[in-house]
Amino acid sequence: MTAYRGTFLDTPHSPFKGHHLRADADAALVVRDGVIVARGPAASILAEHPEDDVVDLREGLVLPGFVDTHVHFPQVRAIGGLGMPLLDWLERCALPEEARLADASYAAGVAADFVDGLARAGTTTALVFGSHFAAAVDALFEEATRVGLRVTSGLVLSDRILREDLFTTPERAHAEGLELAKKWHGAGRTRYAVTPRFSLSCTDALLESARALLGDVPDALFTSHINENREEIAGVRDLFGCDYTTSYDKHGLLGPRSVLAHNVHPTRPELRVLGLRGVAVAHCPTSNAALGSGLFPLGAHLTFGVRVALGSDVGAGSGFSLFKEGLQAYFAQQLLGLEGHRLTAGHLLHLATAAGADALGLADVTGDFTIGKEYDALWLRPVPGSTLDVALRHADSPDDALAKAFALATPADVRQTWVGGEPVGRGGTKSGNETL
Ligand SMILES: [Zn+2]
Repeated sequence: MTAYRGTFLDTPHSPFKGHHLRADADAALVVRDGVIVARGPAASILAEHPEDDVVDLREGLVLPGFVDTHVHFPQVRAIGGLGMPLLDWLERCALPEEARLADASYAAGVAADFVDGLARAGTTTALVFGSHFAAAVDALFEEATRVGLRVTSGLVLSDRILREDLFTTPERAHAEGLELAKKWHGAGRTRYAVTPRFSLSCTDALLESARALLGDVPDALFTSHINENREEIAGVRDLFGCDYTTSYDKHGLLGPRSVLAHNVHPTRPELRVLGLRGVAVAHCPTSNAALGSGLFPLGAHLTFGVRVALGSDVGAGSGFSLFKEGLQAYFAQQLLGLEGHRLTAGHLLHLATAAGADALGLADVTGDFTIGKEYDALWLRPVPGSTLDVALRHADSPDDALAKAFALATPADVRQTWVGGEPVGRGGTKSGNETL
């Protein structure tokens, strides 16, 4: 067994329901076979477990591994396309790069860059928007398995609007999706997600095949986009004659295992349906700002009981860090003025960890440091003398330290990441604790 000693911060109970950040200074977690089996004050825990290896993490903070609920695998090399709204950005920036993943060796290189980027940012679990090409999705699962991250992903589906080399057919979508799901759904830490790109680019027949695939893969997730940009919302209404939510709901695609990205411009009837169905929304605030999509109505989601977690979106976002997404979520609510929801650092950590685990149906596995959950963690250990290091040393409470982390931390400050008690090193390789 291994004992990890440090300052542990987590949010096992939601700050959105009045609970507070849990903070244990100089505590120890005992991990056996990847699972937390004991926790408490370091002095007493270490005395009770004298045979354990001790990993000393007392400098800095230990947080639950981040959970990114919306991040595009093929776009890691397309980050930085500034100055365009959604549909122009897709056509000129994202989709040409996505088409390159038809080449399996190119896709394997992108998969390595992508998974390494997640691990470096402290992200241990992700719902990944896959590729339009089955071999590329297979390469992503291979790489995620090699590195050890918890990845749920799937084949991206479209049969209209986009460039034709990204199109599939309802029959092919079902066959390729089923083959991928048989190989990867429930294999180790990987799971399958049925993934129409967005209803704008999918015919009713393709969405119907997505519904059939969901029925054929027990406990698969469903993910797509919704209500991101007013132009695409108008396009969906023209094509389907209904609102965005109904374009999915009429095909039976919405439920507690559905995660929809963005939802910047929902109507109240749509929020009511999303709440009733138990759908989770992946809020991607940096992407929303970069594409000028708008400010996310968090308060309205909470009013209707719609679950919300964070996503980095990459590449319309600006990188993998959920510290940065948490800060941007805070900014967005501040900019909404009286309509904004006031967020503390505890809220931001919850959105980046436990809320994400709940959205992905993994709340019994990851998201906080409760006994019985797996040890998925990141060690925030800034370079001595850096502004973050100075700020943490002068924090006057755990909440203050966490706020400073969200204000200042970057992937460069994440010294180590663990998934199920296994260290995940930089460069996407598993590494031992001796690298600390
Ligand atoms: Zn997206």
